[in-house]
Amino acid sequence: MGNELVLVTGAGGFIGGHLVGRLLSEGFRVRATDIKPLERWYQQHPDAENLQSDMSLLDEARKATKGVDIVYNLAADMGGMGFIETHKAACMLSVLISTHVLLAAKENGVKRFFYSSSACVYNGDKQKDENVTALKEEDAYPALPEDGYGWEKLFTERMCRHFREDFGLTTRVARFHNVYGPHGTYAGGREKAPAAICRKVIESKMSGDHTIEIWGNGHQTRSFMYIDDCLKGVRSIMDSNIEYPINLGSDELVSINQLVDMVEDIAGIKLKRCYNLAAPKGVNGRNSDNTLIKKELGWAPDIRLRDGMERTYAWIHDQIVSGKNPDQYN
Ligand code: NAD
Repeated sequence: MGNELVLVTGAGGFIGGHLVGRLLSEGFRVRATDIKPLERWYQQHPDAENLQSDMSLLDEARKATKGVDIVYNLAADMGGMGFIETHKAACMLSVLISTHVLLAAKENGVKRFFYSSSACVYNGDKQKDENVTALKEEDAYPALPEDGYGWEKLFTERMCRHFREDFGLTTRVARFHNVYGPHGTYAGGREKAPAAICRKVIESKMSGDHTIEIWGNGHQTRSFMYIDDCLKGVRSIMDSNIEYPINLGSDELVSINQLVDMVEDIAGIKLKRCYNLAAPKGVNGRNSDNTLIKKELGWAPDIRLRDGMERTYAWIHDQIVSGKNPDQYN
């Protein structure tokens, strides 16, 4: 490892903020960038070089990658289903970030490049049933990804491959399946189901109005990966020889109704459920097939959903009760 300089883009966001902490603890020198002003970063690590910078601009990407050995490109304009179903063009414009950070990394002789892809690259026809068959890596083709966001992710996966094949830039790609945990978005419209459900349950409990709105009929199924498992997987994939995009997700499947049951249990409350069938809800069912990552890297999630949700609930509860400005986290 030596004294390598690592760039993390999107470091003011959820996963980026945690990744910077992990890399510093491993002894790397870290340059952290995000388009948001520093005071809005979810976490700021004083031992990193923290820069506000727009990675969709080639000149800024060039400056950010100067002298850098390793890049983790996490920056993207993204959110949960409520955001990506209503901001397709914005999601696709993240292609400017991907393109310019890759180009700048190539020009500046970066040795290794990580890209955070998504389970949203998978063919929608394979996700119509709540009783899912878990998605294997080859299920991304024939291509029918999530409109907008998923197309950009699939395109950038492909671009990483061709930068590796044609330009010799070593690239590694993980397909994240729903990541959750403390220091993530929990309000404002970009939050994902685990944080949104925690927030809604806390708000219902505090207000005394014991109802909860659920998007869809609650039967839709998903798996959720705790942030610590995600970071362990990212570091393992980055240091591996795996050149193709690989699943990084939990395979503990739950329905949204079961997730609400779990959060109600953590909160010690029962709420009346109102199902909003017109709200964005994504595919009917999705799970991660972890055969490949187990075989290649021996990776499997350590944190059970219940344990991770307890930690996430406690953190969101603290934020809300202490009156922290939720705008910091959206
Ligand atoms: P996040 O929104 O918390 O973090 C992304 C960060 O990128 C934000 O802080 C944002 O300000 C920054 N950003 C946006 N445009 C930028 C630009 N032009 N220049 C610099 N920074 C910019 O999201 P996250 O959950 O931490 O996700 C990190 C990565 O992982 C993203 O690429 C996302 O698509 C991918 N991913 C996340 C999940 C998940 O469940 N969280 C699932 C699949 C894939």
